[in-house]
Amino acid sequence: IDGVKTVRVAMTSKRTTRRIIAIGSGKGGVGKSTLSANLAIALARRGLRVGLIDADIYGPSQPRLLGAEDRKPTANEYKKLVPVKTEFGISMLSMGQLVKPGQAIAWRGPMAGNALGQLIDADWGDTETLIIDLPPGTGDVQLTMVQKYKPAGALIVSTPQDLALIDARRAIHLFTEADVPIIGLVENMAGYECPECGAISDPFGTGGAEAASKELGYDFLGRIPLDIDIRLASDNGVPPAASNGRSADAFNTIAGKLTD
Ligand code: ADP
Repeated sequence: IDGVKTVRVAMTSKRTTRRIIAIGSGKGGVGKSTLSANLAIALARRGLRVGLIDADIYGPSQPRLLGAEDRKPTANEYKKLVPVKTEFGISMLSMGQLVKPGQAIAWRGPMAGNALGQLIDADWGDTETLIIDLPPGTGDVQLTMVQKYKPAGALIVSTPQDLALIDARRAIHLFTEADVPIIGLVENMAGYECPECGAISDPFGTGGAEAASKELGYDFLGRIPLDIDIRLASDNGVPPAASNGRSADAFNTIAGKLTD
């Protein structure tokens, strides 16, 4: 299935139904949450009405990434959750907001699936596009996602080395089995520019995700450099895509591919 084309049509159509873009990865720590937050913001800056769901029960990080840890969702008169508005033009709900801070989220499968349902069926108002930051791997939340809430497409993020890519293939399989189009692959943490001398090095290698996209027949959506500014901005709750600096470039490029 040609993912990019399918999603571009879905995202730019005048239909009023909401479409879901799932962001998945084979394993944790590859930058899935970073990409989800910044892609959501980059899309909003292009004029789309975007909501972000943090469904990563093992490490909900969107409230921190979006500087919204002190904002709590409320409930409307129909007892639906009302998402939190962030400073960056997007609304957000996180699994982390459904439990007390610091409380380990040790939900059994059905509970996690129900929680995902509460986040998706929340009062999203006129939001057209929901970006979902999934937990890593292929567990219960992902299954509920593909079976019950049929995303318009899934985007897979991986670091460049082989091991991460093998896991990414497994994540891809989960979506293709459920006939969810793969929008494409994104390679994160590729290429590090030394702030002292400007030399480029590749701690995790480079090009692996692009090669894997070709081999599997999916679009390669772009490469995000390993960049200390991305890490620092993220830790400070100011996503790089909200700035006009260089660290926003990669996210803007990917957003452009989904909409232009
Ligand atoms: P995941 O959601 O896959 O577990 P995160 O998005 O939480 O991964 O990223 C893990 C850590 O790596 C975070 O500290 C994040 O700021 C950092 N990080 C992610 N992408 C980059 C990048 N391109 N450059 C520098 N740091 C990054």
